[in-house]
Amino acid sequence: MMNKPTGNQPAIETNEPFLTLDIAQMALDSANVGIWILHATSWNFLPSTRTKALFGFLPEEEMSFDDALLKVDDKHRRAVLAAVEKAIKQHSNLYVECPVISPTEKKNRWLSITGGFSTSDLTNSYFSGIVVDITEQKQNDLRRSKFIGMVSHELKTPLTALKAYVQMLNNWAKKQKDSFTIGALSKVEKQVKKMLNMINSLLNLSGAEAGKIHLNKQEFDMDELIREVIDETLFITSSHNITIAPGDRVRVNADRDKIEQVMVNLLSNAAKYSGKEEPIEVACTKEENTLTVSIHDQGMGISPDDIEKLFLPHYRAETRETEKIAGFGIGLYLCSEIIHRHKGKIWVESEPGHGSTFKFTLPIN
Ligand code: ADP
Repeated sequence: MMNKPTGNQPAIETNEPFLTLDIAQMALDSANVGIWILHATSWNFLPSTRTKALFGFLPEEEMSFDDALLKVDDKHRRAVLAAVEKAIKQHSNLYVECPVISPTEKKNRWLSITGGFSTSDLTNSYFSGIVVDITEQKQNDLRRSKFIGMVSHELKTPLTALKAYVQMLNNWAKKQKDSFTIGALSKVEKQVKKMLNMINSLLNLSGAEAGKIHLNKQEFDMDELIREVIDETLFITSSHNITIAPGDRVRVNADRDKIEQVMVNLLSNAAKYSGKEEPIEVACTKEENTLTVSIHDQGMGISPDDIEKLFLPHYRAETRETEKIAGFGIGLYLCSEIIHRHKGKIWVESEPGHGSTFKFTLPIN
């Protein structure tokens, strides 16, 4: 009879590296996980049979790195190559999700590819990792995001009407000089605006996840939009001192509502992640064909590790300070999707304890 493993004792003991590899291979095969090894300088590629199958190759077929890349959907190919090159160059970890074209199935198959260097000198020139089929998870995500889109769309219409009536009532109460009603309606208006901001974020999230952020471009004054958003933010948070640096009057051709959403997210984050009395400065500058907006706060700042991931969906920096602050971790993801759709850039300069400056650019012409 076999002895049951106890405590720290491993279930299978072996000093044979090949046996260990076989066991690892068996475990990966039964979990439907493909493995691959890529030589970091020659780019020689060694895929397992499961990896080949996931990319649509037969076990006996050759599959080079380029062959695999050609199977990646056109829209994602460049991003996958850039992610692999960056991970190899910087010795960092790789995580990409991409659809691959499947000749046998009606729909593309979604794969997640994870990789990294091992730490030993011997294996340092080898970049290796796993491939997993995440099609089902992606379909569930899509269903969830369609549902979120539908619900938020339905909620937006009555809430917009409510906001208009509250504003009308507030104007009427001001004429009557009824201070109690004015105070109460201002509070209602604040809450309605907060809810509308959340609903707009959810609507944009469902669009972004479905790869559909539609832009309704129009010409508008950027500094006018910034002033409007500052007034809105002050109305909702009322505790911060927000200033705008004097600058040029810049007209842009962009989706005003979406850029407003970006400004609302960045300004409300600056207020959320800094102390109540700490100042927030906004600046808008123009250089040749590019407009740059920066939002600087003197708050808690962000660590370099978190900076890398801040613009990913649902990512929140987990520190003792941030755990008390509510949020979904979708604001910055949406900002980056919206700015990239406009062919602009977005980034942050920050140090823990020394505040943060979020910046984005938009092409002017
Ligand atoms: P949320 O604020 O809802 O968590 P966001 O996507 O807007 O989601 O932000 C992601 C994370 O980035 C936040 O959880 C926070 O940790 C960090 N962050 C964003 N803006 C700032 C800022 N101005 N200062 C410090 N940390 C920030």
